[in-house]
Amino acid sequence: MYRIRFHGRGGQGIKTAAQALGTAFFLEGFEVQDAPRYGAERRGAPIFAYVRAARAPIQERGVIARPDAVLVADETLVPVPAAGVLQGLAERTVLVVASSETGETWRERLALPGPVLALAPDEAGGPLAGMACAGAAARLVGVIGRERLEAAVREEIGKLGAAVLERNLAAALAAYDALAPHAGLVAEGAPVAAAGYRPPEWIELPRDTAHFAAPDIDAPATSVAAKTGAWRTLRPVIDYARCNRCSWVCGTLCPDSAIAVDADRTPRIDYDHCKGCMVCLAVCPPHAIAAEPERARAEAAE
Ligand code: SF4
Ligand code: SF4
Repeated sequence: MYRIRFHGRGGQGIKTAAQALGTAFFLEGFEVQDAPRYGAERRGAPIFAYVRAARAPIQERGVIARPDAVLVADETLVPVPAAGVLQGLAERTVLVVASSETGETWRERLALPGPVLALAPDEAGGPLAGMACAGAAARLVGVIGRERLEAAVREEIGKLGAAVLERNLAAALAAYDALAPHAGLVAEGAPVAAAGYRPPEWIELPRDTAHFAAPDIDAPATSVAAKTGAWRTLRPVIDYARCNRCSWVCGTLCPDSAIAVDADRTPRIDYDHCKGCMVCLAVCPPHAIAAEPERARAEAAE
């Protein structure tokens, strides 16, 4: 069975990439499973999606813990532990990063024993990096023909119009062609035994009253009333000794506009509406923002 994970940010087409790869496998006669994992309103936040494909019925369920290949559409996610990009990587796992740096640079930086490839910006499709990752994965498994990949992208994207389809097709096929020298590098993994399985930790989210949890949206500008900070599992904390008051990076790139900047250029996080996507942590030039688990905070406060 092939087990392939895609990582990226909400808005990069990660879910669609998994669907396109899954459809390409299906067209080649495989049994397929594909699923994304993300929360609500996650534009800009780390998300991932995964694909299983096999010649026999697939009995496995859940997130892929031991992938045969991991494809990363946004290189800033690689060092973010909460994104889980490096989770379960083994010596045989192929890691592909959309990056202007070489695969060898990434391999040395991460001290990985297995193969690491880079999708250069012109191969990674810019904003269509997710679809480029789908094309790369299709080539790396070595069992998907170019015409099947094209048919799969048409199937998944065609409804969005000719212009969008053409851009996505170009991104997928460019990556497919670029990785021709590595066709077949990703091999099928062995069956996974259930022994030793540890179920994931549950996260208890506080419940809002029905007034907020099931609202009728009939008025504009109501988002301030929705305390999206309750969704957060990680809390960004600014180290003001390191913050150089660049005044715009974190505040501008926060997808929820949850960082305001004081008159003296000091950033302040609105924890009622920060949903914990960690974009600010990834983009802060002097690394002045750390991630603190909310659970640990809550336990410390008890
Ligand atoms: S991006 Fe970093 S350095 Fe710039 S204001 Fe925000 S916390 Fe400070
Ligand atoms: S403050 Fe940081 S973690 Fe919170 S929503 Fe904005 S970018 Fe995401």
